[in-house]
Amino acid sequence: MSDIKEKAKRLHILDDVIVEADLSGMCWGSRYRESEEEWAKQLERAAKEFHDFLRDHRSQDMVVLDVVRKYKDVCSVCKDTWELDKDDNDVLICAACGAEIEEEKP
Ligand SMILES: [Zn+2]
Repeated sequence: MSDIKEKAKRLHILDDVIVEADLSGMCWGSRYRESEEEWAKQLERAAKEFHDFLRDHRSQDMVVLDVVRKYKDVCSVCKDTWELDKDDNDVLICAACGAEIEEEKP
C-alpha cells in the first residue's frame, strides 16, 4: 500500500518556450510544392537565407517570429504528467504516483 498522505491536484505549468519563425514568405509559395519533403527543403533554404540576412541586413523579405509558450498539466505531488487512474476502491488517483486526487474546483 502507498503511504502517501498528501492529496494530488492538477498543476498547470509552463513547460517550454520556443520561438517559431514563419519563413514561408521567403519561399516560392506553398501552392507550387510537390511534396512536404520538397517544402521542408525550401524552408531549410529560407532558414539559411534568414541567417545570412541577420548577418548582413540586406534582405527585405517578411519574417514573422512568434514566441510560443507550451504548458502542460502535472501532478502537484510527483510532478509527472497529469493522468488519472482509479484504485481498487474506485478512488481517483494519480496514475504516476498513486496519490489520491483532491477534488478540482471549477
Ligand atoms: Zn502524482
